[in-house]
Amino acid sequence: MTRFIDAHCHLDLIEDPIAALDAAPDTIVVAVTELPSRYRLLAARFRNDRRVRLALGLHPLRAATAGAIEEGLLLRLLPDCDYVGEVGLDFSPHGRDSKAAQLRVFERLLAEPVLQQKVVSVHSRGADRDVIRRLADARVPAVLHWYTGSTRWLDDALSAGMYFSVNPSMLRTERGRATISALPHDRVLTETDAPFTKAGSRPAGPGDVRRVVDGLARHWDAAAHDVRDAVHANLARLFEERVGRTGEAPATRTRAINPSSAD
Ligand code: MN
Repeated sequence: MTRFIDAHCHLDLIEDPIAALDAAPDTIVVAVTELPSRYRLLAARFRNDRRVRLALGLHPLRAATAGAIEEGLLLRLLPDCDYVGEVGLDFSPHGRDSKAAQLRVFERLLAEPVLQQKVVSVHSRGADRDVIRRLADARVPAVLHWYTGSTRWLDDALSAGMYFSVNPSMLRTERGRATISALPHDRVLTETDAPFTKAGSRPAGPGDVRRVVDGLARHWDAAAHDVRDAVHANLARLFEERVGRTGEAPATRTRAINPSSAD
């Protein structure tokens, strides 16, 4: 059975995460986190929830204030997770002052070879070229989430094997649609970035990923169920290529998080 994919959702920042998951039947939710300690809390709650894939993150806008304990935790928890995010760089006005700390954290993470075996969701606002070049150099074919950068770097990202997760906001803007048009269909994932995007006047939830699928279907002139199938296949392939190939993971862990598994 194929499912909807919300490849970037802040489940721990949603007011009622259980209700949000229940409102998103047949959806795999990649629950990104802003701090490793939040990942641990979320894991305690959702480790056995078949809808949820937990992602270990340290958000670039938290890099300057997270502290040594969180940074240490990021590296210590890394070997045991399959999904990583939200990580990256933000050189927009929001992140300009913390550039040095962001680079320190991101480069420390990229220096870990095991990162190549993860599905990694990456923030790149105002730092499109910096992020793509660093990921390519580190041979990490990550997922660029809510990419708002220039289309001129897209070929570099694509030839380095990267994917892009598309959200409702990108479908609404001219720049977002230009990015989507430049992407091969087999590199596109869907996301809500809930609760930071809006569905009408309320904050989005993972259930709103259907709107992204519908929007992509219109953009591609395809049937919505074909878009859903393609996006599911894209995440399954990415997962197999990264995490699945290691073959060393305990069977129980791999089965529980593999998007292509039957359960
Ligand atoms: Mn986010």
